[in-house]
Amino acid sequence: MKKLTLKDSEYEIKKGKILRVRKMTAIETFFEIALPGGESLDHEPGQFVEVSLFGVGEAPISVTSSPTKRGSFELAVRNVGKVTGALHKLKEGDEVGIRGPFGKGFPVRIFEGNDLLCVAGGLGIVPLRSLINYVIDNRRDFGKVEILLGCKTPKDMLFNEEVDEWNKRLDVKLNCTVDKADPDWKGNVGLITSLIPGINLKPERTFAVVVGPPIMYKFVIKELLKKEIPERHILVSLERHMKCGLGKCGHCQINNFYCCQDGPVFSYDKIKNIPEAL
Ligand SMILES: Cc1cc2nc3c(=O)[nH]c(=O)nc-3n(C[C@H](O)[C@H](O)[C@H](O)COP(=O)(O)OP(=O)(O)OC[C@H]3O[C@@H](n4cnc5c(N)ncnc54)[C@H](O)[C@@H]3O)c2cc1C
Repeated sequence: MKKLTLKDSEYEIKKGKILRVRKMTAIETFFEIALPGGESLDHEPGQFVEVSLFGVGEAPISVTSSPTKRGSFELAVRNVGKVTGALHKLKEGDEVGIRGPFGKGFPVRIFEGNDLLCVAGGLGIVPLRSLINYVIDNRRDFGKVEILLGCKTPKDMLFNEEVDEWNKRLDVKLNCTVDKADPDWKGNVGLITSLIPGINLKPERTFAVVVGPPIMYKFVIKELLKKEIPERHILVSLERHMKCGLGKCGHCQINNFYCCQDGPVFSYDKIKNIPEAL
């Protein structure tokens, strides 16, 4: 039986005020939210919050802004059901409930001094954007940075303007791919795995962070292992049906792990032998 060490604050729902809403695609919307009195969320890149709407429910959503952004934080939400659908109807000035931040994020201290490869498929860019902007804001603490982004079509690409800014930087290498191009697309066409043979990083000093749809993981990891990146240097963020966020309800259990508390970020060596993890 797992020992519970819950702090009262983990149950506390804070009122978050929506400062900015922006439609990103047909199904994804961006929200900037402030806590009362401009209180800082104090999250780590890769952590999530439980967002609630009174009378509707609660959903885990990754924080997409970097902890270096103070005074407010940002979410990007795909409309898939009850809570996310209701969130999409909100306007600037409306309020949402916020619990958290929860979970284990990306181990940024361990990344320091090393090279970083970020691999994001589809909505995976949402948690990775927090890490990428944190690294950019503390650029001297990290070695080389390579970013691989993939999505189905160019119109599904999120954070386009920011991705262009990352691409202009001399200290970041970025490559984008789509499964199906349109006539204006100038990047690569093909699965995200097709970009991995082209990376130029020293495996022993590289940490690879992979976030995307479940199907992506085993193929991307196979390519990373071919590049001799050590198993413990491959970090994945897993998504599971989740309710409490506190390791209490058991909805997100993966064998001996709770995705909400032991994850959502796991190193590959820890989960590779758990059949239902990847
Ligand atoms: C750690 C974590 C971080 C997340 N970050 C984000 C994020 O940044 N942005 C974002 O848009 N979404 C994110 N999600 C997914 C989001 O939590 C779910 O889409 C949301 O809970 C759905 O709630 P709903 O009430 O809108 O949908 P429901 O009405 O509950 O369900 C709609 C449909 O989606 C399915 N579904 C619901 N939740 C999940 C799930 N977790 N996995 C697979 N299928 C599911 C249901 O079975 C149903 O078919 C994250 C999930 C986790 C666990």
